[in-house]
Amino acid sequence: MVQTFPQVLLWLVGLALTQEVHTVKASSCKVLPEDEEWPTPAEWEQFNVTVGGRLLGPVIPLSAPCHDNPSGLGSYDADECSKITASWHSTELHIHHPTSILYPLFSNNSCLHSTDRFSPCTRGYYPIYVVNISTPDQISATVSFAKAKNVRLNIKNTGHDFLGRSTGRGSLSIWTTHLKSIELIDSYAGETEYTGHAVKFGAGVSVLDLLEATDKADKMILGGAQRSVGVGGGFLAAGGHSPLSSRFGLAVDSVLEFDIVLANGSFVTATQKSYPDIFWAVRGGGGSTFGVVTSWTLRTFDTMPTTTIRMKFNASNEENYWKAVSTFLEITPNMGDQGVYSFVVLRNQVMHITALYGPNLTVAELDQLLNPFLERLHSDAIKYTKKSLHVTSFFPAFYETNAVTKAGWDAAMASRLIPRDVVENNLDSLVSELKKLSTFANGEPRVIYLMSFNPICTVEPNLCDNSVNPVWRKSVTHVVANLPQSRNMTMSDIKRRARLHVLDDFQPMRDLTPGSGAYMNEASDFEPDFQEAFYGVNYGRLYEIKQKYDPTGVFYATQAVGSENWTESDGVLCSNDGVEVKVD
Ligand SMILES: Cc1cc2nc3c(=O)[nH]c(=O)nc-3n(C[C@H](O)[C@H](O)[C@H](O)COP(=O)(O)OP(=O)(O)OC[C@H]3O[C@@H](n4cnc5c(N)ncnc54)[C@H](O)[C@@H]3O)c2cc1C
Repeated sequence: MVQTFPQVLLWLVGLALTQEVHTVKASSCKVLPEDEEWPTPAEWEQFNVTVGGRLLGPVIPLSAPCHDNPSGLGSYDADECSKITASWHSTELHIHHPTSILYPLFSNNSCLHSTDRFSPCTRGYYPIYVVNISTPDQISATVSFAKAKNVRLNIKNTGHDFLGRSTGRGSLSIWTTHLKSIELIDSYAGETEYTGHAVKFGAGVSVLDLLEATDKADKMILGGAQRSVGVGGGFLAAGGHSPLSSRFGLAVDSVLEFDIVLANGSFVTATQKSYPDIFWAVRGGGGSTFGVVTSWTLRTFDTMPTTTIRMKFNASNEENYWKAVSTFLEITPNMGDQGVYSFVVLRNQVMHITALYGPNLTVAELDQLLNPFLERLHSDAIKYTKKSLHVTSFFPAFYETNAVTKAGWDAAMASRLIPRDVVENNLDSLVSELKKLSTFANGEPRVIYLMSFNPICTVEPNLCDNSVNPVWRKSVTHVVANLPQSRNMTMSDIKRRARLHVLDDFQPMRDLTPGSGAYMNEASDFEPDFQEAFYGVNYGRLYEIKQKYDPTGVFYATQAVGSENWTESDGVLCSNDGVEVKVD
């Protein structure tokens, strides 16, 4: 139910009398369409002129054609609905809609295609207005308008975010996905020590597009392991692990400069010498925090012959299964040292190595590194499938090996970066925790992802001083445990299960790895002590820079730097300096 502003105020005061949790002052909440302070239609119209007619909205949710609900936003159309239903799991469907995101849980599961046709289609936690960005000026104008009108600002690139940080109730959204320029630079000479080949690209360019473009010049960049992820949005801002990370570090280590619109609306270029604090903070301190990046310049690398291996087996014997997992983990530090990156999925006693990337390695060399694991499978008579590929450059290896991701599902995610020391000296405990995590209550299977690498920053030492949580550099495996959630559950059940999964069941993994952290982009929005886990020793400096450039919190995202100054309850975003409110 949508509440009016006076209702919200009464609700806040009522809660203040009965509960004691967070402090939120109603008057410092971002405005919603039902509030008196919400911009008038004439003001929106005028704003649209300032952004060159690029304003979209009020935007109707993607699945509105699946709802027959005259009093809501539904507009039932059987053909349209069946098209949406048929392509619901396609990432492209959600990327190309102005407000849709890959994981609808974060929209409060609003207006789903799969719910009853006669149930209301509401906007839920989706943005209401969107600026389809084509120039930095439009971003400056949008930031200034949102700030002046106290409207919540959102930034969406591809909508891949696992913590729902590219949506927000009642927000005005900056949609960057159409910033697609790619310029190859033969001899970059800027303010870093690096000179040589580079690429400048718009914030909306995907991993696939950037790898393809650089490959044409026999170069490559560090993109994510999945083709549809945006390079220039949340990925680079959080560090970004890549199939090339064991050779060249994290993706952000190769950033030479970037262009950004700051909270005061100014459009600046950040380099080691110009806005050095912003240059440091944005390279690892997270998206939607310090500004809106419009383009990045990365150094490129000469492409190299690459071997990939994919393997899969189903072990009927549980003990043998976990012995195999253990042997695989045991060899990952050495594989990482030799430049190998691996991506493994564990579920229901199936181990699926979806990709083992060996840049600059032959098939024989990669097999040799994998040999202890293969021997383990042979000695335990585990039958497996194995496919190897060797090509003369990285891009075709990536293209052939990388599976297309499915969108539109929901899961509670918990994760941890596992230090080398734990894998080398406490492997039994690690495997024992993974085994416990492989099932939830009543034997319900969880899915475990193991990404192994050696992401040390060596390639460009003067660029290694960035704000990525330093625990990355000591980590050799990134463990992600997913608890699948179902649309048929109530939201309170979904949250209860997520808390159990993240706070209780995953706690032993945190206990096993004291002083480590978690990757902010592949983690839970329930992560305890997120400042320590996601940002580590850099948090204090990041917070100061946030206060310097965005003291009023124009940019906000769940668990972003400075987000502790805000409380979000039922999608209503209020600053923490007034009435006491319980947060669920
Ligand atoms: C299928 C899949 C595969 C993945 N694989 C990898 C991987 O291999 N390696 C890895 O490191 N991560 C990976 N991730 C995680 C990925 O890094 C995050 O989901 C990331 O947030 C995606 O960024 P985006 O810009 O594409 O998505 P969005 O959801 O659009 O944005 C993510 C965040 O960045 C903010 N943002 C977007 N654009 C800008 C901008 N221009 N300026 C400032 N803030 C901005 C948004 O507000 C939001 O907070 C994967 C995720 C998925 C879903």
